[in-house]
Amino acid sequence: MLCPPTNYPAHCRYTLDTIASRIPGIDGFDVDDASGAYAVCRPCQRTLATTDPRLTRRLGYIVDSPRQAASTPVYWRQTRWVYFDGNPTIRAAAKAEAGLLSAG
Ligand SMILES: [Zn+2]
Repeated sequence: MLCPPTNYPAHCRYTLDTIASRIPGIDGFDVDDASGAYAVCRPCQRTLATTDPRLTRRLGYIVDSPRQAASTPVYWRQTRWVYFDGNPTIRAAAKAEAGLLSAG
């Protein structure tokens, strides 16, 4: 998964500069499952770091625990809700699931 920030793609370099974690307190390189992290360029990483944590949580970039990562949809590149469930491809979230999240 690459660079999902809230103002994508205005400054995105489309590069894999680092791995960001979705789990507070755990480095992206240390997560146990692919659902808990995503690839990100430095400009997007800075954007995410300065975005209101309530928004990043609502958009799925932050989850409360590792076991929630695979089942929490992410609003990917501000275009669609997907799951980072550890599979080689991104799985789209059902419209009902995405609707519940975007309405909250
Ligand atoms: Zn980026």
